Amino acid sequence: MKKVAIIGGGIIGLHVALKLKEKGFDVFLFDKKNEKDLGLKPCSTLVSERIRQFVSVPDDCVENTIDGCRINFPKKTIELDFNPRHLVLNRDKLVKSQLSLLKEKGVNVFLGEEIKETPSQYDYVVGCDGPISIMRRKLGLKEPKLKIGMQVFMEKQGKSSFTDVFPVKSGFLWQIPRGDFVEYGILTSSLRPKEIFLDFLKKQKIEEKNMVSALVPFSGAGMIFSKDKRVALCGDAMGLTKPWSGGGIIWSLYAADMLVNNFPDFEKYEKEARRFFERKILKGMIADKLVNFAGFYFPFLLPKKINYDNDFPDFIKSFVDLIGKK
Ligand SMILES: Cc1cc2nc3c(=O)[nH]c(=O)nc-3n(C[C@H](O)[C@H](O)[C@H](O)COP(=O)(O)OP(=O)(O)OC[C@H]3O[C@@H](n4cnc5c(N)ncnc54)[C@H](O)[C@@H]3O)c2cc1C
Repeated sequence: MKKVAIIGGGIIGLHVALKLKEKGFDVFLFDKKNEKDLGLKPCSTLVSERIRQFVSVPDDCVENTIDGCRINFPKKTIELDFNPRHLVLNRDKLVKSQLSLLKEKGVNVFLGEEIKETPSQYDYVVGCDGPISIMRRKLGLKEPKLKIGMQVFMEKQGKSSFTDVFPVKSGFLWQIPRGDFVEYGILTSSLRPKEIFLDFLKKQKIEEKNMVSALVPFSGAGMIFSKDKRVALCGDAMGLTKPWSGGGIIWSLYAADMLVNNFPDFEKYEKEARRFFERKILKGMIADKLVNFAGFYFPFLLPKKINYDNDFPDFIKSFVDLIGKK
């Protein structure tokens, strides 16, 4: 049986490990975090219900269900009706439930083990080690452009089924109702992220205590693939996120399945992922820039309400729907 080492036990590494095990490989998963901390990463984990196509989501992981998002430009608010709707998940519980499934299926799990060199004793190695990937660096590949995401949480009821987004020139701020509390956050490429975030929190009369942050790769700079026949990358390590939101989970789960289906033919994986994502990334970047430009300078051009697939938006269909409504 061929041996595969998965480096990184985030949502993507755990998924790849489980699927490769089911495909008959002998799988070894490593993460530098210990079992208690494994699921603890700054991440809103606001994902569409498509996640259920990939990962089993226990009911107690779902903190809230989200029907849409209001984009609050200074002079206009646009309502996006999410189709499919979204779930606000407790990332810690989700990761822990994936981990127990993995152990049940017989994946060999090594936690509290930081991998510093590409392991040589395995037939294949998959780097799912996040935005600052050691596996990517060891392959000598280019580094992705990074943005920073920051979060604070307020203990107050957050039962609304709408999230709010507040675009700024270098990114956006958000408010997510999470059931028993409300999350505030920012994703930005600004060199002064904390200043912008603190200013926003002050205006919302929110305390800044227990702020957490993490990096997010910007896929507009291009996906990163290994040319090594023994080593592949997936998830944030390959720089894959939605260019308009920085959301990496759903897109990376699609990429993870492409990797598993083609395993160990990494050239085929690269071809399939490029064919599937490259145009989506380009279109997403253009649409994001156009909507922001119009939102700030020509808000009257934008509709009040759009039916919207937040994973695979069809900008032409949204436009046709809009004309139809007028
Ligand atoms: C503030 C914020 C909010 C976000 N909100 C959303 C959201 O709402 N929806 C969404 O889809 N995405 C969101 N994202 C992005 C999302 O978190 C990532 O795209 C996703 O977690 C990537 O998963 P991953 O498994 O590739 O990487 P990670 O979750 O980063 O996992 C990598 C794992 O590798 C381990 N590791 C790293 N180096 C080593 C090493 N050398 N040896 C061993 N282990 C190692 C780490 O400990 C970690 O457990 C957000 C990100 C941030 C920062």
